[in-house]
Amino acid sequence: MLEDKIALVTGSTSGIGLAIAADLAAAGCTVMLNGLGEAAQIEAARAEVARYGKAVDFHPADLSRRDQVEALVADTQRRFGRIDILVNNAGIQHTAPVHEFPPERWDLILAINLSAVFHATRAALPGMQARGHGRIVNIASVHGLVASVDKSAYVAAKHGVIGLTKVVALENAGADITCNAVCPGWVLTPLVRKQIEDRAAREGCTPEQAERDLLAEKQPSLRFTRPEDIAGAVRFLCGPAAANMTGTQMVLDGGWVAR
Ligand code: NAD
Repeated sequence: MLEDKIALVTGSTSGIGLAIAADLAAAGCTVMLNGLGEAAQIEAARAEVARYGKAVDFHPADLSRRDQVEALVADTQRRFGRIDILVNNAGIQHTAPVHEFPPERWDLILAINLSAVFHATRAALPGMQARGHGRIVNIASVHGLVASVDKSAYVAAKHGVIGLTKVVALENAGADITCNAVCPGWVLTPLVRKQIEDRAAREGCTPEQAERDLLAEKQPSLRFTRPEDIAGAVRFLCGPAAANMTGTQMVLDGGWVAR
């Protein structure tokens, strides 16, 4: 369906990003991976995505650094000729009440979860505009739509991503360039496992109980959204049926924001 498209997926050495990268490769895309991690983890991610027979490369850009975001986009264009699909996925979390929130964690979360989306989009757009085609998908969150306690930086950044998505959509609405956000609820990845472990330690319960409580508190389906569900949403947004869909949010949250 996406045969011979060139896709850049940020934060694709783990979790949701890795599932998106693998799914885009399965749909026919050449993929540039990016993210942090041990060499073995990165090689495992590369091998998983390469299973589909398309070219796959890895770029180690640290997205908290503007110059490295710019290099990621430029090097991808140099390596594969262009970028048709940009998936801004990388993200981190830190939880603490506002009055105890470490300012350096605020700066880091805003840099990776919001500013890197701006810098990658800014760098990728001219090529898309010159060719009159592009798909930008931002992995936001239900926390781009509603708030939770102890997540000030994350909620602020994700609300910012939703706003940025709308602006990019409007500025490029006359071309075949779309920009949409995907808003997952709870997905069981390393990012959420840490919150489950923290909750179990805080409440003196088992990780299994903490997992059940986490779901019950927010996600009425009482089931995690799967990384491959998010990948399916991204594939849809990059495909022909979504050609006139831009500036929107696709919410995969088991009913979280419905109540
Ligand atoms: P994850 O921790 O499994 O993966 C995060 C990825 O981002 C990894 O590849 C990591 O190496 C990369 N990354 C982190 N810091 C980076 C940096 N400075 N430079 C480059 N790469 C960096 O997390 P995940 O759950 O797969 O999250 C992916 C996205 O989905 C994030 O934007 C997150 O906010 C969003 N999200 C996740 C959930 C969830 O429940 N897991 C829910 C809503 C939204």
